[in-house]
Amino acid sequence: MAKKRQGDLSALLGYAGERRGLTFLGLTLSAIAMAAGMVPYICIWLVVRDLVAVAPDWGSAGAIAGYGWVAFAFAVAGIVVYFGALMCTHLAAFRTASNIRKQGMAHLMEAPLGYFDSNASGLIRNRLDGASAETETLLAHNLADIVGTVTMFVAMLVLMFVFDWRMGVACLLAAVISVAAMFSMMGGKNAELIAEYQASQDRMSKAGTEYVRGIPVVKVFQQTVNSFRAFKEAIDDYSAKAGYYQGSICRIPQSVNLTFTEGAFAFLVPVALLLAPKALASGDLAGFVTNFAFYAVFSAIISTALAKIMFAAGGMMLASTALDRIRPVMDAPVLDVAQSPDMPQGNGIAFKDVSFTYEGASEPALDHVSFTVEPGQTVALVGPSGGGKTTAASLIPRFWDVTSGTVEVGGVDVRKVDPHVLMDQVAFVFQDNRLFKTSILENVRAARPEATREEVEAALAAAQCEGIIAKLPQGIDAKIGTGGTYLSGGEQQRVALARTILKDAPIVVLDEATAFADPESEVLIQKAFAALMRGRTVVMIAHRLPTVVGADKIVVLDDGSVAEEGTHDELVAAGGLYARMWADYNKAVQWQVSTDGEV
Ligand code: ADP
Ligand code: MG
Repeated sequence: MAKKRQGDLSALLGYAGERRGLTFLGLTLSAIAMAAGMVPYICIWLVVRDLVAVAPDWGSAGAIAGYGWVAFAFAVAGIVVYFGALMCTHLAAFRTASNIRKQGMAHLMEAPLGYFDSNASGLIRNRLDGASAETETLLAHNLADIVGTVTMFVAMLVLMFVFDWRMGVACLLAAVISVAAMFSMMGGKNAELIAEYQASQDRMSKAGTEYVRGIPVVKVFQQTVNSFRAFKEAIDDYSAKAGYYQGSICRIPQSVNLTFTEGAFAFLVPVALLLAPKALASGDLAGFVTNFAFYAVFSAIISTALAKIMFAAGGMMLASTALDRIRPVMDAPVLDVAQSPDMPQGNGIAFKDVSFTYEGASEPALDHVSFTVEPGQTVALVGPSGGGKTTAASLIPRFWDVTSGTVEVGGVDVRKVDPHVLMDQVAFVFQDNRLFKTSILENVRAARPEATREEVEAALAAAQCEGIIAKLPQGIDAKIGTGGTYLSGGEQQRVALARTILKDAPIVVLDEATAFADPESEVLIQKAFAALMRGRTVVMIAHRLPTVVGADKIVVLDDGSVAEEGTHDELVAAGGLYARMWADYNKAVQWQVSTDGEV
């Protein structure tokens, strides 16, 4: 555990970059501030000493005012230096948090697009944003306080011997007992308990999220009790663990801890009573009273210091779990970028003996798949669900990289193509082509920022968006998602298609199924598709038979392998899987026609 903490700290300081030094400067200043803060206590000792020496002739204690000013000066200096210390640690902490975000983002820019499919963007955002903020308390406050408290303990050790070591030991003993009690709650076997307790807290919040997410399903299927059970079990588990930890493990140590931090003074009194007769006998009662006064006042700062340690331990834990959440983002796989990239020659595509297995899957999603797409051809991928169509299509723009074999564009392995060049050459229309909360113009122009307004308008026209724009008072400058400008699913898809058309990439990879969320605009979307496909090389995950019938080639994927390939006529004649699918389709159509006829 201690080792992990050290690792966490150096990981955090690593993120501080060139402001790392500021952290150390801040910590040094914090130690100096704490040392300066001790001086007024010494002044109190001096004042008491002088007063006792001249008692009861108080007026002759002339140096007292001087001590007062010295105490005041050091108290103010301590505050100013502490302020400076926090300034330094904050500057470093803010830089650390922003570097975590920046490095995370920079790293994600190199992750394959598929990573964002399997990791929800909200989760990634929460990881980077939330977790980086959580490291701040530790770096900005807790570390400085830990150093300050350590300084205080060292000063106490010193002062203990300077004045009266026996009373010093009494104060220190109180502090040691309360620290020991505090660590007994966290160390050893209890560390595992705390880990379990935190894990069960995590499970509870996850179950809560799932429960809320599942509410639509719950409502539709009326299954209130069952879906609630997992959530309730998670809460019960958490409450049992929390109860056990707080009630059985913490009750005694925490009572001891609080008693000795708040009551160090009470610890001091019996020691003083024991010492008093001796002091009387030796005739140094004055010195004894002076020292007692000092320790009585001094013991009051112990509880403040110990409370800070408590907070620091909390900050340490928070920062440690924050780092645990950041790590998966920083460790996300990255796309290999070729050192000396090759330029694709032309727009053909070739799958050569391609196999691909998803991370964690036992069966390959694609198993030795080979097929070619000549430049300008439209190739349809068809086959039963789960056959590997989406997977094959997503290997072309490198959503993922193949496990073995090669995917070539223009005769060059996609892994050897500069990713920017590949992105310029391949456009894809997949499940969710999201629109940004900005104007339609900017949404479309995102594909090619230097495009003129006229080019954007032409792309929108080709994507059959004229009707959408005519409805909006501000036309293509209307901001989507604000001020009542909301587009239906089909309308959003057409705007997204306009973006892809404007991109004007020679190769288009598209999933036709995404197009028909909105039946009314099906005809318009078909026209937009036609505009997008014209004159380009197209790989399409086909669901509609007109597309399949008209394709230059059909590749039938079944269970991760190419079952057959050819034109529609060839495949129907071959009498294989495709012919069966075709026959099924025709039966369905006839059935539809006959029922339509009856109505
Ligand atoms: P199709 O598009 O033909 O329906 P897919 O390419 O989506 O088929 O899926 C092929 C196989 O890969 C299926 O067995 C599916 O369960 C699996 N698969 C798809 N996506 C993932 C993923 N992100 N992680 C793990 N397995 C996946
Ligand atoms: Mg699919």
